[in-house]
Amino acid sequence: MCSKEEMPIIKLYPNIYDTFAGFRKKETIRMHEQTLSSRNIDLKFEITDNNYELVKGLKTPYCTLSNNIGTIYLTHEFLSFLWCISFYLFVIYENIQKQIQENEIWDGKIEQNELIEKSTKLLSWGMSLKKNYSNWDKSFMNPSKYDSQEKIWVGSVNKIFLDAISLILFHEYTHIVQDHFSVHDDNDLQKDLEREADNWAKELMVNYNDGDKFKHHTGVGIIIAHLALLFVLKNPRSIKQKKHPDLDVRLFNSLEYFDIKNKKRDFYLKHLASVGLEMFCSIWNININKNNKYQDVEVLLNVYSKKLDEFKNEKCL
Ligand SMILES: [Zn+2]
Repeated sequence: MCSKEEMPIIKLYPNIYDTFAGFRKKETIRMHEQTLSSRNIDLKFEITDNNYELVKGLKTPYCTLSNNIGTIYLTHEFLSFLWCISFYLFVIYENIQKQIQENEIWDGKIEQNELIEKSTKLLSWGMSLKKNYSNWDKSFMNPSKYDSQEKIWVGSVNKIFLDAISLILFHEYTHIVQDHFSVHDDNDLQKDLEREADNWAKELMVNYNDGDKFKHHTGVGIIIAHLALLFVLKNPRSIKQKKHPDLDVRLFNSLEYFDIKNKKRDFYLKHLASVGLEMFCSIWNININKNNKYQDVEVLLNVYSKKLDEFKNEKCL
């Protein structure tokens, strides 16, 4: 067991800043950087403990702007949660990919092995952070576990995690650059601002003329960020949002945005999203009446999209 100050996620904090700073050097972001500097705005991060008494769950990142300082707030617990989700989804999905390569089809079952068992344990600890804090058990996988045979997984997941958190940071960054802080009672207007922050976030990270390989690799982190925002919910009905576009819609919007020409890479991202949605639905007993043998991932995504629409609009007692 380790004390909170030694949470393994803390070792990745310098990498979070570096990855974010790396994207900020992209040509596509120059105009926004100029806006920040012409308005004399400094950006800073504040990473705190999650206040369970106040938020009754995990506080997702948010930002403020005052006295020319834009602050993005994160919690150790949310970041740990995001890493666990990234690890689980990537390991499970790579296993599914292996099955698809061997049998040309995935039968919907997840083969059990030691790594999957470890990932499942890690996920259940990650999910428990929604209720309360407990230590990151030393026997679990973690971002700095480079001494085991799983180190290759840890390296890949760290990269995915860093892209996932970058998407979330660029969403907040957009609120700061575009000065989205005037208070709106108008939910539709607020939704437009949120949509703008989402669109910018992915456009700042992935540009249409980036290659398919880059889009695919960065896209994995982006899809997992969206899935994590679904999994963080304490009530599945909250996928329908008042002030943001609905969470499933935000995921579908990102999927559409990538426009990957390479069929295998395009399939990878869309199928990863569908597997994540399947997990979300099974956690909350949302019954999807689907044939596992859907070959066409677009059809499969459509099934989820329709079902979630129905679910969102159900009148519940
Ligand atoms: Zn926002």
